[in-house]
Amino acid sequence: MGLLKALAGLAALISATAAGAAPEHYDLEARIDPTAGTISARLIIDLPVEQALAESRYVVGERFRIVAADAGPDTSTEIGPATAPFPGLQAVTIRTRTGRPPPRRITIRWEGPLNPPQSGSPVVAASPDRVELFIDSMWLPFRDDLGLIYTLDARISGLARDMVVVAQGQIDRDGDVVRIRREIQDVDFAMVAERGLTRVVDGDVEVYARDLGTAHATLFRRHGTAAIDYFRRWFGPLPYRPVRMVVVSRAAGPGYARRGYVVVAERGGNTPNERGIAGLVAHEFGHAWWYRGGPTTEDYWMTESMASYVSGRYLESIGYGLAPHELAALRRESRETGPILGGGRPSGAAIYTKGPLLLRDLEARIGRPAMDRIIGELARDPPDRTAGFLAKIAEIAGAGAAQAFEADLRRNGYEPPVG
Ligand SMILES: [Zn+2]
Repeated sequence: MGLLKALAGLAALISATAAGAAPEHYDLEARIDPTAGTISARLIIDLPVEQALAESRYVVGERFRIVAADAGPDTSTEIGPATAPFPGLQAVTIRTRTGRPPPRRITIRWEGPLNPPQSGSPVVAASPDRVELFIDSMWLPFRDDLGLIYTLDARISGLARDMVVVAQGQIDRDGDVVRIRREIQDVDFAMVAERGLTRVVDGDVEVYARDLGTAHATLFRRHGTAAIDYFRRWFGPLPYRPVRMVVVSRAAGPGYARRGYVVVAERGGNTPNERGIAGLVAHEFGHAWWYRGGPTTEDYWMTESMASYVSGRYLESIGYGLAPHELAALRRESRETGPILGGGRPSGAAIYTKGPLLLRDLEARIGRPAMDRIIGELARDPPDRTAGFLAKIAEIAGAGAAQAFEADLRRNGYEPPVG
């Protein structure tokens, strides 16, 4: 009786906490015309109190017409050009009147062409057979630090029934309307809708491609499943299921990933680079666990360097580890690379080349069992600041190891250890 009472009390406490901590949320209603390449949309952004700011800016591509922006009677809104975080944008700036509480709900309506003008990118946002949307085309308003992570409920009309929609979360179709509900928080809303995609399910991994039998698609599928199995043994269960990979039918342009959602391009041909595919897929699926270091912060190495380090471990486990001359090339490049910590947002070379090398050298110093324990324990609830990572190193491998690693992160250049 006492126990039941205690449990009931605990349940009430948990639900009260959950209700009080409603996450940042995007509610999107959009009509997309793939043939015309246009969108007309309404977004409601709901913010918890700690994310409600007296002044905030939301940016979207300058090619759109912002039809309306509203944050309630206590605010003023202003629309104007923006060049940050990169050029070609416009911003809705929301200011709260003095003495009034900052807005918890912001509504923005916009319309216009999905495809960036004069884009040299082979990733066209909309075409009659495929719509591919993610943050790069700035098709949706984002807070200007790109750091707002949100849950999502989207209702999108205009996508023909034979356009198969792939995104994170739960996807349902009701006639003309595709509904996407995502309970995990992410910085982006990325989706692909492509005519004629077929799906295969391997455990927790769903793979979509027009032709699942190509040499490329076969390798993506094989290594997607194998990398997830490898990581699960090390990091514990997937934070959410399933993870999805879509092989889009464009012959060029980048692959990219959000949490548990990977987009890769079908390159065609019969001689795919298996090592490259295995490394890419393992890096991107590694982000299912390693994603908390904010993209505009110095902690971003915990997202990118960690995904690269763990994908390197996967490659090694299947006989594709680095050859000595490749490792030597990484060391040469790292000698010229700026710091990871303390120098503002680190460079690409710092987080993709030097960071994984520092992690390799940390492993060499403390031994693989200690390294695997540090990473395995952190993976259950990854830190969002570097201090959390260093604390775990100190706990498992000693304060000296943590201090030496921090010094390496702050170093300009990097000299390889002797021997
Ligand atoms: Zn990455």
